[in-house]
Parts: sequence; structure tokens; C-alpha cells
Amino acid sequence: MADRALRGAGLGSKSFEDEAGVEFAPRQQLGFDCPNGHHFDLTFAEEAETPAVWECPRCGLESKRTDGVEAEAKETKPQRTHWDMLRERRSIPELEDLLAERLDLLRSGDIGPGVRSM
Ligand SMILES: [Zn+2]
Repeated sequence: MADRALRGAGLGSKSFEDEAGVEFAPRQQLGFDCPNGHHFDLTFAEEAETPAVWECPRCGLESKRTDGVEAEAKETKPQRTHWDMLRERRSIPELEDLLAERLDLLRSGDIGPGVRSM
């Protein structure tokens, strides 16, 4: 009997203490406003990369940050295209040579549609 009472009290107070004692990771709250005037707040981990826009939970429209942070300002790194990567490896004259080479092969029938690699 004493055992049961102890366990009951222990369980109740312990879970309560755990709840209060948990240290949450640092958070940040961001406000968003949609074009229809809906305002909503989202909570992000402090180290998380925060979005500049978010879909309004009420009407689904793209909502902008209340603090005015724009997508363009956030993305400082320009997107590298395949062309940019190619240009890092090859100069234009080199590419022209390659193109001429491929065109010759294509015209002579060594590559292209109908040519089987076997
Ligand atoms: Zn909305």
C-alpha cells in the first residue's frame, strides 16, 4: 500500500518536473502577412534558415515576412548554372573546338540518331 502511494505521487510530480525542466532549443518567431491581410506567426529553431515567404495557412497565398525580409536579400549566393560550371572548365575556343568536333562526327554519321554503340 505504501509502495503504491509512493509510486503514484512519484509519477505525477516527476512528469511535471520533467516538463518544466526541459530546455528547449533556442527559437525564433517570425510573423507573416498574406495579401488577404491574414497574419500568422511561425516558430523556427534559432539556427534554422528562415524562409522569406510562406504559404498562408488560411487562404494558401504566398505571405511575406512582417519584418520585411525579402527573398532577394536572403539569397546572396547566385545560382550556378550548368553553363557557369562548364565555363569554369572550358574556355570558349575549347568549346568551339569541341562543338566542331562533334558536328564533324555527326555529319560523318559516327554519332547521332541511328548509330548503335554496339
Ligand atoms: Zn491568407
